[in-house]
Amino acid sequence: MTTRRDFLQNSAAVVGSIALTSTLAQAKESNVPTSLYPDKLIDDTGKYVLLPLPYAYDALEPVIDARTVELHYNFHHKPAVAAANKAEDGLTLARETGDFALVKHYEKELALGLSSHILHTIYWTNLSTKGGNPTGSLLKEIEKNFKSFDKFKVHMAAATTSVEGAGWGILGYLPASGKLMVLQCENHQKLTAWGVVPILVLDVWEHAYYLKYQNRRAEYVNSLFSIINWDNVAARFDAATR
Ligand code: MN
Repeated sequence: MTTRRDFLQNSAAVVGSIALTSTLAQAKESNVPTSLYPDKLIDDTGKYVLLPLPYAYDALEPVIDARTVELHYNFHHKPAVAAANKAEDGLTLARETGDFALVKHYEKELALGLSSHILHTIYWTNLSTKGGNPTGSLLKEIEKNFKSFDKFKVHMAAATTSVEGAGWGILGYLPASGKLMVLQCENHQKLTAWGVVPILVLDVWEHAYYLKYQNRRAEYVNSLFSIINWDNVAARFDAATR
């Protein structure tokens, strides 16, 4: 019988070796099965784990300053990983003791913390100073769903900039419908459609931009478009459509 822990360990073994874009391409060539979520979120014991940043703190300068990346990674992403683990521990204890008094608290913490971990992991790999534009099958799919890359950009920027409070602009692919879609996410876990695989996520929590841009969220969002790692977005799209 396969337990959930076995499943997590097997998943970790599969995705652990293909954590980032470059290795994803290698995995495709060697016929290693790839996941809809080609990120290493957990360690070998099934605990959520924080991957090292794929670049130095100052790698996204001048669009995102080094201090912002340092604070963002260490004091916003990292605590979310801890919160997700704590929530799962709380739920495990509740099952063991039969005391579900805090079940609502831990379920909310799990949704928030784990969604934060998932989105931040994608965000870091979605960015690099390489810049550029989407090409190939991803570009074709963007044009099919949004008419043109420019129309997509305007839609994505508008949805991201107008998030109420803290949240994310998300480009995702829903395997069930075969559509790319823009979602506007509040906090880390609200306003999704179940099953959508995020392939490009733009963080508009104030911690992501306030040191440099203060209240000028639109300026930050527009600047982000110059540092999107479209190879990473394309690799995620390929994995989601496989
Ligand atoms: Mn963030």
